[in-house]
Amino acid sequence: MKYDVAIIGGGIGGLMAAYHLKQNSPDTKIIIIEKGFDLTKRHCPAGSDKKCIHCKICSITSGYAGAGAFSDGKFNLGTAYGGTIGEDLGEDVAMKYINEVDNILHSFSDDYPELYKSNEALKLKCLQNNLRLLDMNVRHLGTDKNFRTMQLLIESLENSGVEMLSLTDCTDVSRNADGSYDVSTVSGNTKAEYNAGKVIVATGRSGAEFVKRLCEKFDITINANSVDIGVRVEMKDIIWREFSSQIYEPKILYRTKTFEDRTRMFCFNQGGLVSAENNHGVITANGHSYAEPEKKTENCNFAILSSIHFRGDFNKPTEYAENIAKNTNFAAEGNIMVQRFGDLIRGRRTNEHRLASNTVIPTMKAFPGDLSIVLPYRALTNIIETIYALDKVAPGTANDDTLLYGCENKYYSIRPEHNENFEITDGMYLIGDGSGLTRGLSQSGAMGIYVADKIGGVN
Ligand SMILES: Cc1cc2nc3c(=O)[nH]c(=O)nc-3n(C[C@H](O)[C@H](O)[C@H](O)COP(=O)(O)OP(=O)(O)OC[C@H]3O[C@@H](n4cnc5c(N)ncnc54)[C@H](O)[C@@H]3O)c2cc1C
Repeated sequence: MKYDVAIIGGGIGGLMAAYHLKQNSPDTKIIIIEKGFDLTKRHCPAGSDKKCIHCKICSITSGYAGAGAFSDGKFNLGTAYGGTIGEDLGEDVAMKYINEVDNILHSFSDDYPELYKSNEALKLKCLQNNLRLLDMNVRHLGTDKNFRTMQLLIESLENSGVEMLSLTDCTDVSRNADGSYDVSTVSGNTKAEYNAGKVIVATGRSGAEFVKRLCEKFDITINANSVDIGVRVEMKDIIWREFSSQIYEPKILYRTKTFEDRTRMFCFNQGGLVSAENNHGVITANGHSYAEPEKKTENCNFAILSSIHFRGDFNKPTEYAENIAKNTNFAAEGNIMVQRFGDLIRGRRTNEHRLASNTVIPTMKAFPGDLSIVLPYRALTNIIETIYALDKVAPGTANDDTLLYGCENKYYSIRPEHNENFEITDGMYLIGDGSGLTRGLSQSGAMGIYVADKIGGVN
């Protein structure tokens, strides 16, 4: 079976690449290979107790629409965070492609939401308290609308003749003498090979091992990256309403006093729910929220992450962070751990009794415990200092009843070398979160569109 382009991974990066390849040249023969389920068959079986049951293929992170399928659908229309394509492509070019993601999504949505615009007064308030508000325009689709928009995008790809395989794991890619590639797959017990002139690898964070294998095989240098270790923080929604009502998503940087490390508050969910994420059997915390008022909770949640950069001989940030998450799962009987901030400060574990009388009612069933026995001193100190700093701009953040779920890690360790077209070897492109260059929907999608232009010879 011969194709012009094989796309490995059906997340937003892969889908946007396919869509734009077809926009540029409708006759392009494209195949998308996705190891997870079709979007409509994706389902997290965590029951009413919301406890992760460790599926072989995690429907939260894998399947068509990728890790963003059940996300809050927050599209950050700027380059201040969510990746580095502003640096890689230059601000103007990056913004052109980020706006193109927005235009494509808009074309699939009849009641497209208004933009949340940046806010000078809140920026000043943060600056006066040693905090830096990373403020930019945000389009918030919400989980349901994001899901429907992705479904329409997928249907349009099917209608335009893109072949879309699901439950098909790409296991290898080989280069032929004529410069084309053979992409090997396994689906159940069936093995297959697809020949393509170009390959776009869009495997996201869940494909990190696959990308590593490809880099080893094609002798591509991998540059080290940092890792973020932190917690998901949950409190009454009203505490952050001043921010969320005006800019929707406060993303705030802080430099800690003790270690002078950089921490960040990010992935804010107004009226949201804390959720679990399964990365190869390691369970970490995350969060999302629905746009519909009837699905809102009384709480908001966000991540506080402490960045660690390794220098010198030890250079395995992903493995390091994974071990911390595994250890937390171990101490929490295979689950995520939750602790009241007041208990953490007093050096005692949270138990069922204290959690039951907490004023903040947890939106996720987690194991009550003591985060100080699992998180490294440096990360925990940074997190505690950040909570006190945030309390100055949103009083109540450092309340005793604030809940911390551990741990939430962000891995970006693999950053293979690439040329200006994001080509890692002749005719093979690496885009999205799997490239280590993006950390969000807009920039991953923008990379997909950019690479589609490069393949199509469009400037
Ligand atoms: C719970 C949650 C909430 C989030 N909320 C937001 C948000 O509101 N806003 C935002 O900007 N970002 C959010 N993010 C991050 C965002 O989802 C990612 O940045 C984005 O999905 C990256 O897109 P991608 O296409 O690069 O990778 P992914 O979306 O991860 O897609 C990669 C796909 O490749 C597939 N794959 C991997 N390896 C293989 C293989 N070997 N063979 C075949 N298929 C393979 C995977 O199954 C996956 O479907 C959230 C993430 C999560 C988990």
